[in-house]
Amino acid sequence: MPGSGTQSGGSAPPGKPGTNPGETRFIADRMLGTLTRYLRFMGYDTTSANGLDEGNKKEDTLLLDMAMQEHRLLLTRDAELARRGRVHAVYVMSEDVMEQVQQLIDAGLIMRRVTLSRCSLCNAVLREANTCEIGGADYAPKDWRNLHFFWCENCQKLYWNGSHGKQLEERILGNHEEQ
Ligand SMILES: [Zn+2]
Repeated sequence: MPGSGTQSGGSAPPGKPGTNPGETRFIADRMLGTLTRYLRFMGYDTTSANGLDEGNKKEDTLLLDMAMQEHRLLLTRDAELARRGRVHAVYVMSEDVMEQVQQLIDAGLIMRRVTLSRCSLCNAVLREANTCEIGGADYAPKDWRNLHFFWCENCQKLYWNGSHGKQLEERILGNHEEQ
């Protein structure tokens, strides 16, 4: 939680959208892989239990320890774990990712937005791509007008405004038709 720890934790440069050190950072359990990606689309620093080796019987305890050490809020579908985590954990009520996002918005933990600041695969902070990287990605649009390109050095992956997909952005931003 802000205040006590002085460690800024991580390589995030200040001032870039979605890398504000004052924002809540998250760690999500294995049940929340989709929410993890959505939070990264929204620019929130979110690590995941999916990055840990499988089969660790003490994974719950490990996640709680990581949450406290790294000043992250643990997001879990496990009510018992959330109880153990007290203020360091949030019990995610729904199985539906949009309802999960809404729960975090209602709790004042996140804002409804889409940013191009983090890699959705690995959580690394993106930097601007150079022409070599853009030209080398066969999945990139050929028409670069009105596009801004960003690069994940970890994954060697190119992102651009719109690369998340219009549908996904509309879902997150809430412009979709209610059914
Ligand atoms: Zn990446």
